[in-house]
Amino acid sequence: MLVFKFGGASVRDAAGVINLSEIVRKYTGQQLLIVVSAMGKTTNALERLTKAYMNGTDELPDIFSEIKDYHFNIAKQLFDPSHSIFNEVANTFVEIDWMIEDEPHDDYDFVYDQIVSIGELVSTRIVAAYLNHADIKSQWVDARGYIHTDNNYREGNVDWEKTMVSIKNDIPKLLEKGIVVTQGFLGGTSENFTTTLGREGSDYTASIFASCLQAESVTTWKDVPGILNADPKFFSDTVKFDELSYTEAIEMTYYGASVIHPKTIKPLQNAKIPLLVRSFNHPDEPGTIIKETANTAFEKPVIILKQNQVLLSISAKDYSFISETHLSEIFSFFAKNQVKVNIMQTSALSFSVCFDLKHERFEKLLVALAPNFKVKYNEEISLITIRHYKLGALRDLVGGKTVLLEQISRNTAQMVIK
Ligand code: ASP
Ligand code: MG
Repeated sequence: MLVFKFGGASVRDAAGVINLSEIVRKYTGQQLLIVVSAMGKTTNALERLTKAYMNGTDELPDIFSEIKDYHFNIAKQLFDPSHSIFNEVANTFVEIDWMIEDEPHDDYDFVYDQIVSIGELVSTRIVAAYLNHADIKSQWVDARGYIHTDNNYREGNVDWEKTMVSIKNDIPKLLEKGIVVTQGFLGGTSENFTTTLGREGSDYTASIFASCLQAESVTTWKDVPGILNADPKFFSDTVKFDELSYTEAIEMTYYGASVIHPKTIKPLQNAKIPLLVRSFNHPDEPGTIIKETANTAFEKPVIILKQNQVLLSISAKDYSFISETHLSEIFSFFAKNQVKVNIMQTSALSFSVCFDLKHERFEKLLVALAPNFKVKYNEEISLITIRHYKLGALRDLVGGKTVLLEQISRNTAQMVIK
């Protein structure tokens, strides 16, 4: 059996849904499970809605109408007005109505998951209905009953044993009856609350289903021809890899390559399932295959740019050297506030650390550090990681930018630039 994952960009409009059905039709006769993300930029819009609700701001009704209109418009282009999908979509959105009628619950992350998950619940309703409408037999499956997680909202940790049992129990039977359409990004707790697996987590969902079902392969259909050595938005002369090893792909996602969610590869590597990254615009092209392979020769370096970083430099208030005791205290604040370190460096009197700017967490971190440490920081900087670099070419890559911090190891060079 095969697992396909369709991201938001692939289903951002009615034409995208039709295109999905045409891709799927080519695989008629094969057992297929498809994982679908929220349409277009819906997750961002639902994040804004959550924020508006939690902060009690008045843009809430407008944001909500915009999200509903967007989905109903897509549905109108795909179905006759009498089709039951309109009710299904409306009933899914009612969940949000119920939620926002009440005073906000004080756990932001909990509320976030209950609201933001609606994006995937609606998109999969529309896709499943459209496949059936296009005579491709399919069944809508609620991923929350299969991907079991703890209650670490917004970054649910998967209970693999339970998940494996649920998936193996039901899904093979369903696959015999037609295509299984399910949501990316979602999980469920033992109390039946919804969790999410972290932004862009649909790839991970595909990988979970595939490894529990011992799929032949997973294909993620994207708006790029495959995995490129750099993001063409920022770099010219990019090249596509035909093949990459699991290890290289894991390294790339670790350093922030956004083409695949970081948690996706490991389960596939363990189960020896190849991951294909292919273009939904050119579905006959082979794309990139990630599998167990001897390391590719890299003619061009792999370049990963992470924007929206903070470089924080921390020193002790009493001007003492940065010691292990300081570091262990500093790290405990990072762990407690869920701030993930991208690169760090220690010197005698200060500890410098670069991470993604997430305002809420950053502010809490500053508060925690304040009693014992002095801090300085730079915002709006970028972290560039270059794997398989050529030493001479490193400076050319950063152009006229200032390098604030630099680390070079055998395979990987990293620079924080402004
Ligand atoms: N819709 C979610 C997001 O945008 C999950 C995903 O797309 O993979 O983060
Ligand atoms: Mg998405």
